[in-house]
Amino acid sequence: SHDSSLEFLRDFSFPVNPNIEVVESLAQVIEFCQKWQKDRHLLPYEIDGVAIKVNDLQQRETLGFTARAPRWAIAFKFPPEERTTLLKDIQISVGRTGRVTPFAVLESVFVGGSNVAMATLHNEDQVRLKDVRPGDTVTVRKAGDVIPEVVGPVLALRPDGLEPWVFPSVCPCPIKGELLRPEGEVNMRCVETDCPSQRDQRIIYFASRGGMDIEGLGERTVYQLSDAALVGDPGDIYSLTVEQLLTLDGFAQKGAEKLVVAIDGSKTRPLPKLLTALGIKHLGPGASEALATAFGNLDDIMNANEDDLATVDGVGGVIAASLISWFAKSENKSFIEKMRTAGVEFGNVQISRLPQNLVGKNIVVTGSLIDFDREGAERAIKDRGGKSPSSVSKKTFAVVVGGEPGASKLTKAEELGIPILDELGFQHVLETGELPQ
Ligand SMILES: [Zn+2]
Repeated sequence: SHDSSLEFLRDFSFPVNPNIEVVESLAQVIEFCQKWQKDRHLLPYEIDGVAIKVNDLQQRETLGFTARAPRWAIAFKFPPEERTTLLKDIQISVGRTGRVTPFAVLESVFVGGSNVAMATLHNEDQVRLKDVRPGDTVTVRKAGDVIPEVVGPVLALRPDGLEPWVFPSVCPCPIKGELLRPEGEVNMRCVETDCPSQRDQRIIYFASRGGMDIEGLGERTVYQLSDAALVGDPGDIYSLTVEQLLTLDGFAQKGAEKLVVAIDGSKTRPLPKLLTALGIKHLGPGASEALATAFGNLDDIMNANEDDLATVDGVGGVIAASLISWFAKSENKSFIEKMRTAGVEFGNVQISRLPQNLVGKNIVVTGSLIDFDREGAERAIKDRGGKSPSSVSKKTFAVVVGGEPGASKLTKAEELGIPILDELGFQHVLETGELPQ
């Protein structure tokens, strides 16, 4: 039995959880789950549930597996833990596209394994729907045990005369831009084009891993640079000097030199990364890749007309229109010219010399592989002319399944009768362009 093998391990001094119990009936299983749901905090570590397994190994054999999981083991997940705390304030933050998001400022409370002092409230309607008001005692939990969430107010504890929260009419940025809620949208927006808060977010996005990937240029440093008026747009980071950085709080010679080197190193990023980093509305990594392949350099993309952009596979009308209006703005032109002057490469497109044996084939990858990370697997497919969409459809050529695959992709593949490959099968497809026999 499972129990005796654990006993065996314990005899050899392997650490075995002392709270494991063998029970005789379903009623006892339920009792065990309820006990630990109540007592979970008595443990010196965090748990989110209880695992229940059939003890008899012979019975396990008989029960076997479904496509995804054993039939002899199941997890009982506790409902998310809830705590109450004081909602001190509701504040707003501005994103790089001007979207304004309200968030709760909470009296710090320990919930689901960590201290929570802030939680997003998403938008104006959500605040009204939940009817949370600064001064309320609110219930807080972690959605999926990760993201803190305000569930609602404890009305019995609401002080008399507490007013509903009103969405501010101006941006929290220094120039206090007007906030508007466009017809049919759930989000308020700061419509001021030179809003400093939006600009800061654009610089943070530009330097982030998905964009120019500049190590050491995170939120904190961007805010410092912005406060010191050293940057007006992302193009300005290329003229930053060690001396300027040394005037900022917390920068010493070594750190300043390191950041300048990192900024310099970002000048040779591939064109798709550069395009993504610009932060053009609707333009994500996939379309950036397609544009880079179709045009080869940034200048040709800037000079292309809307039709030429829209007909690129994976781009379309919405992105094309967004590109045209972005490149037409004088502040964006000057940002591009700053990068050109600094020597940022505008045409770094890697051309694959691999055989193009996957042209017209869509291969979906799910779960973790041993020899490829997620990006590496997608690159291997694209470098051979194939596509790697994120969902399974009738057009999918094959689904590659690694460890802990997405359940919905696997089910869909089975339903549609799409060939399912392991990592070896994937290697075969990459080499030959054909399914393994
Ligand atoms: Zn603003």
